[in-house]
Amino acid sequence: MTEDVYTYDVRCRTCRTMFKVQLFESHQKNLFLVDKKDWYCEKCKKEYFSEQTKKLAKAHLAIGFPELNGSLKMVSWAEKIRAELINKVDYLRKSLKFENDDEKEQSGKAFDMFFREWQEKTEAKWWIDHRKMTIRNISKRVAEISELIK
Ligand SMILES: [Zn+2]
Repeated sequence: MTEDVYTYDVRCRTCRTMFKVQLFESHQKNLFLVDKKDWYCEKCKKEYFSEQTKKLAKAHLAIGFPELNGSLKMVSWAEKIRAELINKVDYLRKSLKFENDDEKEQSGKAFDMFFREWQEKTEAKWWIDHRKMTIRNISKRVAEISELIK
């Protein structure tokens, strides 16, 4: 077998440039993939990710989360994680029920302070390191803050 067996020509869906991919399934399956899959060249893939990252960064800036520091790849990943984690906080916040207005106000303050802690995390690496944070973790930290400001 030669190496050619594994290399196929595909066309980028965005810029229509032909490029080579290596596939490792059976020849028949590879041909199917070449035909059916949406292929994107490296350049378009990079542009797509940087577009997505820019969009997220802009949305985050609007809610007080500053731009992240780090390599392009890390920032791109960290922005996605940050979006997911912020969604978790919003979900938690909406799911809470309160006995009275005081409790509600207290909780609101705790969440604001919690977000302020996150807004100070401007290193992409911090978000990547904390990507596994769960709603339970978040809830625990908010409860701690709530105790502190009582
Ligand atoms: Zn392309």
